[in-house]
Amino acid sequence: MTDTIAPPLALLAELTHRCPLQCPYCSNPVRLAGASGELTTAEWQDVLAQAAGMDALQVHFSGGEPASRRDLVDLVRHAVGVGLYTNLITSGVPLDQTRVDALAEAGLDHVQISVQDVDDANGDRVAGMAGAQRKKREVAAIVQRAGLPLTINLAVHRQNLDRLPAMLDMAAGLGAARIEVAHVQYYGWALVNRDSLLPSRAQLDRATEQVEAARVRLAGAVVIDYVVPDYHARFPKACMGGWGRRFLTVTPTGLVLPCHAAESLPGLDFPSVRDGSLAEAWLASDAFNRFRGTGWMPAPCSGCDHRERDWGGCRCQAFALTGNPAATDPACSRSADHTLLDVAIQDAQTEPPAFIYRRIGGMPA
Ligand code: SF4
Ligand code: SF4
Repeated sequence: MTDTIAPPLALLAELTHRCPLQCPYCSNPVRLAGASGELTTAEWQDVLAQAAGMDALQVHFSGGEPASRRDLVDLVRHAVGVGLYTNLITSGVPLDQTRVDALAEAGLDHVQISVQDVDDANGDRVAGMAGAQRKKREVAAIVQRAGLPLTINLAVHRQNLDRLPAMLDMAAGLGAARIEVAHVQYYGWALVNRDSLLPSRAQLDRATEQVEAARVRLAGAVVIDYVVPDYHARFPKACMGGWGRRFLTVTPTGLVLPCHAAESLPGLDFPSVRDGSLAEAWLASDAFNRFRGTGWMPAPCSGCDHRERDWGGCRCQAFALTGNPAATDPACSRSADHTLLDVAIQDAQTEPPAFIYRRIGGMPA
């Protein structure tokens, strides 16, 4: 089997789980890693060199907040040196002029900043940090001045979606060449907070129209990517472009995962870069081969004409909703479990419960 496996397109390097924000939709695991177990600078440099050696093209520095690592500039410089395209996925909050200039000088190719709302009070409430939205706008301007291409990520949900047109205009005004409107996906902390975040069908339909209108309004200036929530779709997304097909993630402590949420799955022994090579993990580990391709699929996926388009959807979502990581993703209208989503949508129409904020140490008791 190994000789037919293509190299990964990109490495998602989750440098740390530390983050000054506490977003209740964070895709990090509910059990976050503390600083003491994080890979060292030398270990990360080795991971980056290995990824380039496997013919990966890109590295996305992520977290947590990757700028919480003091060695971020060194890691970017190293990634550039081994030939990777470098993207920084950041909240923006810990950055300033000096740090952005140093990142640009190190060769960083692209910056992606997440913004929670156009309404600062609500955005700061969602982020769990006073002053966060103002700081993000300041950092976006610094990134612009440094000449780095900028994407603004708008994570949208029930509690900000009604301001989407203004959010899009704000993102365009910040100088983004690309805006990513990403509906929250329900795993990690977002699953814990699903009833507070899941939009209604009417909200979603309105948002889709608003994105289309903004694409016309901002044509030629900004590209808008739009990710709809699986809960309101007919078919699931090709999660990560298919398990073990395009992406690999290395966690702050060195586990190698096919997707950033895969640690939630039971019965998979994820390899570590501290015990073996990235190539062994990609090519030969049971964890990567378990759901790769179509051979593992149950009915109805096994006989479905979409199976090489969506690769059976999301394993984490299948497990979160059915308890079985090998089940057809319930987001699919052909799944026997699809009604579970109708129940969730119903549950999310009542008064939203208070957020349970992301924090190291896990859920409050
Ligand atoms: S989603 Fe929010 S809390 Fe999670 S890493 Fe990103 S900025 Fe930090
Ligand atoms: S049955 Fe499986 S392969 Fe077919 S559309 Fe649904 S999730 Fe995709």
